[in-house]
Amino acid sequence: MKRIICFILSATIVFSCCVIISAAEDDTPVILVPGFVETVMGIDIDGENEEQLWPFTVPTVLGKIVSDSPTLMTLIAGLAFGKFDRLGARLGSDAEDVLHKLTCNPDGSSDYGIESFSQDPALCNVGYLARHKNGKYLAMADLAKSIAAKTDSGRTFVFCYNSQLDCLELASQLRSFVKSVKKYTGSKKVRLCSHSYGGQIIAAYFYRYLNDSDVEKAVMIYPALAGTDAIKHILEADADVPFDDILVFVENLLSLSTEAEKLLIKNYFHYIDEFASSGLAELAGMWRYWGSMYSLCSNEYYELLKKEFLDPVESAAIIKSNDIIHYDLIPNLRNTFKKCQAKGIDLSIISGSGMQECLGGDDNTDILLPTKLATGACCSKYGKHFSDGYKAQHSTCTDPKHSHVSPAMDIDASTAFLPENTWFVEGAFHGAYYNQEYSKNLIEKLILTDDIKDVYSDSDYPQFGYSDNVNMGIGFGFDKSRPGFLSSDDSEIVIKNLNNVTPIKILSVTASGLDIKFDAIKSVTVLPGKSVKIKYKGIIPKVKAKRTDITVKYVEGVSVNTLTRGFTVDNR
Ligand SMILES: [Zn+2]
Repeated sequence: MKRIICFILSATIVFSCCVIISAAEDDTPVILVPGFVETVMGIDIDGENEEQLWPFTVPTVLGKIVSDSPTLMTLIAGLAFGKFDRLGARLGSDAEDVLHKLTCNPDGSSDYGIESFSQDPALCNVGYLARHKNGKYLAMADLAKSIAAKTDSGRTFVFCYNSQLDCLELASQLRSFVKSVKKYTGSKKVRLCSHSYGGQIIAAYFYRYLNDSDVEKAVMIYPALAGTDAIKHILEADADVPFDDILVFVENLLSLSTEAEKLLIKNYFHYIDEFASSGLAELAGMWRYWGSMYSLCSNEYYELLKKEFLDPVESAAIIKSNDIIHYDLIPNLRNTFKKCQAKGIDLSIISGSGMQECLGGDDNTDILLPTKLATGACCSKYGKHFSDGYKAQHSTCTDPKHSHVSPAMDIDASTAFLPENTWFVEGAFHGAYYNQEYSKNLIEKLILTDDIKDVYSDSDYPQFGYSDNVNMGIGFGFDKSRPGFLSSDDSEIVIKNLNNVTPIKILSVTASGLDIKFDAIKSVTVLPGKSVKIKYKGIIPKVKAKRTDITVKYVEGVSVNTLTRGFTVDNR
């Protein structure tokens, strides 16, 4: 009996300790570091004469346009004749008029006292912002609110910053902010979670202040670590918009699920290419002397843009900081992250992939950032893939037993900054990380728990996954293999209707280059959120690393859609 009591007692003590440990972990404050266009800035922010100038909002620009409606009506009439370029230029110039106060001097300074919301932890925690400011200055709002609800809104913070500044300057501000959050909460460590430019700011923070040992973990969502080629298009006002991809982007962002909604957007965006080019021309001047633009520019175009837009004397300050970023910080990202891990800091990267860049170009991107620059992974060009039998390069991960090649054979993560801690989500769009269950759950699991140590920890979250935004229509995979793979163990394909409103009907399933036939399935209706299993006949060849395209044709409402996805035959 005594033994049993002893056992129960010790079990209780062990269990209580576990509870205390996990409570202490959950208690670590979370700091959200938002992206370039997510943080509020302007003049006298939160003061009596507040003039909010950023983010660039439709109402501010529309307010200006409505006051000039006769001109606008003429321009809209021009649309019927395809004169969208004029409206683009007009919208662009109105926007420039509204935002001219955001233009910087050649040395990167501003004459207008541009500021962000406060970096005082007592004011920029989610609880205070929700209660007293109606969430007005809350960037990354959905994620921030969800984390706050699951932990403590008074210990979840948003790092508010001025997007004009380069990432080294912002890293220095982040350092001060981390120190004040530690003091305010009494915690020894903080957790960081960023989106887009926020990822580069975190990288710059680790590059400069690693010895501080203030950070327990960092989750970087779609991070702009090594920048983007899109900056070249923006500063040179040269856009070549891939219409289909931008359309899917808008559909995704708005989570459009019905064909009628999609048709509306399609008509509306018909002239977006001309619109983007002419609108950008008006806006390019405003961004010219923002230090951040050159931090966010890819290494490939940095020298070119520096030469084109910055005077070596007048803009020496912008150049000095950005030379460090492009010649030391970015080339050393792998080293910096390795040092972080050696110090016990838990790092994770989540990146989108599988789309063409929205302003043109032929990289595999999350529609804005090239996946290779966000992650360090070697990627094939958009729409292309590695040849059959491709062998991973293993330049960062040197374990030959590890497979870091994506099933679509378009990404080789063995060269990534963090091969064991980078997750790729095909079809996940840059700004839309929160309206898809898959990414959202992965992000929260990474930031709030210690359950996932690397890409092998959780079979629900392998290194390569797929966006389940309702707009994708369907998702599919084979019954036994891991997502994206196919082997002799499988006997059927599982197709899920991601739509939450409309039932779908599967018309056909085909596999390119494989001698397999899927059962006749014409009558199968799949209800919203449900799945169907379809058997196939034929032999999967005894090969490894062979790519096949699986195409599913289905009816949704009145429209016939197809989704093709690259799979790897992996018969070991
Ligand atoms: Zn590895």
